Amino acid sequence: MIIRAQTVVTMAGAPIKNGAVAVSGGRVIDVGKFPEVSAGYSGHEIIDLGEQALLPGLINAHCHLDYTCLRGKIPKQKSFTNWIQAINEEKSKLSPEDYIASINEGFAEARRFGTTTIANLTAFPELIRQIPNALLRTWWFAEIIDVRAPGRANELVDSAVQSLKSAPNYGLAPHAPFTASKNLYQRCEEAGANVSLTTHLAESREEMEMLRDASGPLYDFMKSIGRNMNDCGNGTPLELFVDATRDTPARTGHTLAQWIVAHVNELTESDFQLLDKMTTKFHVVHSPRSHQYFGHSRFPFKRLHRLGLNVSLGTDSLASNESLNLFAEMRAFQRNEPDRSPEKIFEMITVNPAMALRQQDRLGRIWHQFRADFVAIPCSEDRNLFEQIVAFDGESNWMMVNGKLQGIGTEKP
Ligand SMILES: [Zn+2]
Repeated sequence: MIIRAQTVVTMAGAPIKNGAVAVSGGRVIDVGKFPEVSAGYSGHEIIDLGEQALLPGLINAHCHLDYTCLRGKIPKQKSFTNWIQAINEEKSKLSPEDYIASINEGFAEARRFGTTTIANLTAFPELIRQIPNALLRTWWFAEIIDVRAPGRANELVDSAVQSLKSAPNYGLAPHAPFTASKNLYQRCEEAGANVSLTTHLAESREEMEMLRDASGPLYDFMKSIGRNMNDCGNGTPLELFVDATRDTPARTGHTLAQWIVAHVNELTESDFQLLDKMTTKFHVVHSPRSHQYFGHSRFPFKRLHRLGLNVSLGTDSLASNESLNLFAEMRAFQRNEPDRSPEKIFEMITVNPAMALRQQDRLGRIWHQFRADFVAIPCSEDRNLFEQIVAFDGESNWMMVNGKLQGIGTEKP
């Protein structure tokens, strides 16, 4: 099949005017100017998208579809700790059926906004089997917390891996240094060199206070639920994370480059020096609108970028955001970083997250042998292309995942 569009945004060179893509077996087999591509594959079905831009499908590098049903349920709280207590309260009202409905609703919404790949953390990997084959390419990460049972890290990881095995792509997510023990981080790394890894790190001032200074509201709360606080007062969240993951690579073949680390808002000068010294670096996911909801310290994008960290965007969950729309996420990022070019911002939901998921040869671009994951948006020829992409404020009405056309725009959750 051949897909023609006014512009094909390959992200592997300049956009192609009057472009076309030939697709076979779920992959791109040719990309170029329409006359040349169509001459090479005459007789093939042609889909003409007209005055639209064909984009690589968008990749959401961090979200929790479990909590799609919590949209608007948690008003802004005085502190991060209060928010954790509020979400725990909301979660206590939900059944497994509610979570399944919430995840399905999240998939439908993400698709409407042009997402074709999603890195989804779930606290309930045992429910994955009950989710009908998702129409999005999904990396299922089992989110694991061992704060109440630090001795059970092995068991928790084994059981998560058992549940995850039914998913085509999966990974492990020890939640954060304030809820996951060093042992749990290490067991997750030992689960296999092919397993992707993600975590939350240095998100809030309270996390910094708890781990570095052994004080503050998060410290008091975690202590009250029985967490062993012996690791507090010794180092920053980043130092604890690096310490937890430093010992394992020789045994497991893992490197820091396999970690996708969400947030990284709170870094000290010594943390920046530590990042500078690292020979391999982890990937970072920033969630601009969730960040704004919490009022965290300014995300140090420029410094992280200068230090060579690959930064992607994600929506996080709807317990701290209003939609699963990555275009809105790009605009929120642009408001804080107005001198970053729209094209570079678009890389943060295509090329960069593909690299974070170690799919840089398959996803995030429209190129030879890449997966045929696309989305089309209306586009006018006389305005700056990437500015129009970042400004796109609608729902996509045409998309393809793995070479299969997706019927969207008709169903609302
Ligand atoms: Zn998160």
